[in-house]
Amino acid sequence: MEFRQSSKLSEVCYEIRGPVIEQANALEEAGHSVLRLNTGNPALFGFEAPEEIVQDMIRMLPRAHGYTDSRGILSARRAVVQRCQSMGLTDVDVDDVYLGNGVSELISMATQALLEDGDEVLIPAPDYPLWTAVTTLAGGKPVHYLCDESADWYPDLDDMASKITDRTRAVVVINPNNPTGAVYPKEVLDGILDLARRHGLMVLADEIYDQIVYDEAVHHPIASLAPDLVVLTFGGLSKTYRVAGFRSGWLVVTGPKQHARNYLEGLTMLASMRLCPNAPAQYAIQAALGGRQSIHELCAPGGRLREQRDRAWEKLNEIPGVSCVKPKGALYAFPRLDPAVHKIHDDEKFVLDLLLREKIQVVQGTGFNWPRPDHFRILTLPYADDLDAAVSRIGRFLSGYRQ
Ligand code: PLP
Repeated sequence: MEFRQSSKLSEVCYEIRGPVIEQANALEEAGHSVLRLNTGNPALFGFEAPEEIVQDMIRMLPRAHGYTDSRGILSARRAVVQRCQSMGLTDVDVDDVYLGNGVSELISMATQALLEDGDEVLIPAPDYPLWTAVTTLAGGKPVHYLCDESADWYPDLDDMASKITDRTRAVVVINPNNPTGAVYPKEVLDGILDLARRHGLMVLADEIYDQIVYDEAVHHPIASLAPDLVVLTFGGLSKTYRVAGFRSGWLVVTGPKQHARNYLEGLTMLASMRLCPNAPAQYAIQAALGGRQSIHELCAPGGRLREQRDRAWEKLNEIPGVSCVKPKGALYAFPRLDPAVHKIHDDEKFVLDLLLREKIQVVQGTGFNWPRPDHFRILTLPYADDLDAAVSRIGRFLSGYRQ
């Protein structure tokens, strides 16, 4: 008897934890030390969880052994409502907030609840690939709109408009962006909202990096610009509070909810089918949102994240044939390998060869649904000197690399 994976998975792809990982594991088992620059997991790079969050969770643990309300505990949802109010999202009630085991679970639930077979979702290219994967898994069709590297990686609104059909149901906006680090100005967001308004699209706003912005960049929550549209905003503790392993996130519904009543019933049913999110991690939310926001110091001049972003960006641009738009937010850089200099036809092979030769693991651009094999993503989470050394090794590797 052979058990085969469901055909539903045949088109689903998630490269961040893809096949290259097995090679990296094999190298480690053989005694090599591998620098893992593939997953945005702050804990791996010396970032501690804020003490008040850990202490609060420990304090609440004896009371966290039962199932909770399937949307999540009231005190945490209240804390999310307050956060929304302070960010200009009006008219949010505790019933508009759903907690989840990370944003990942909520992204999956939100698409499962929305899509009929063949429904289209506009997703950025490059994207955080979970969006493409869950859309496919839910029977939908991911349609990628291009982000323009020559315009600070902002979405190309003409391209987006040209891809809207009568099957388009929603547009995904990842801001600040993974993998490009772009932070979108208000005009760009208004342009997206105009299209959503004209074509009756739901806006799916992945804003998990909303507090991780550098320089003069300002993050505008897209829902605050569109009280007349149904917007689902996703946020969580994984990045801003460096507790990715707790698996704690939220989803907030704003706009004319009366036009989404039936959809929200479906979403609520999916929330109750999973019974509830992990209870101890829900208790972390109130402590996190009410506590000191140390992320702002990390991103300010002199802050660790800012210094690392600077170092990665400077060093990448020093490699011949490599150029990198300066990330204005999030925890990544997405450099370009000039095809006239670096002839790479298969970027997964490039990533594998880099791993085997230099013991550095990055993710190929096509893993983010970027259409050409001429980019890769690197984390800006390691200490600046470690990044410096890693990027030098990538430069050395590239100087002799041919496919
Ligand atoms: N959305 C984006 C853009 C991400 O980069 C990530 C994780 O890297 C997630 C969602 C998932 O986050 P969580 O840990 O809350 O599931």
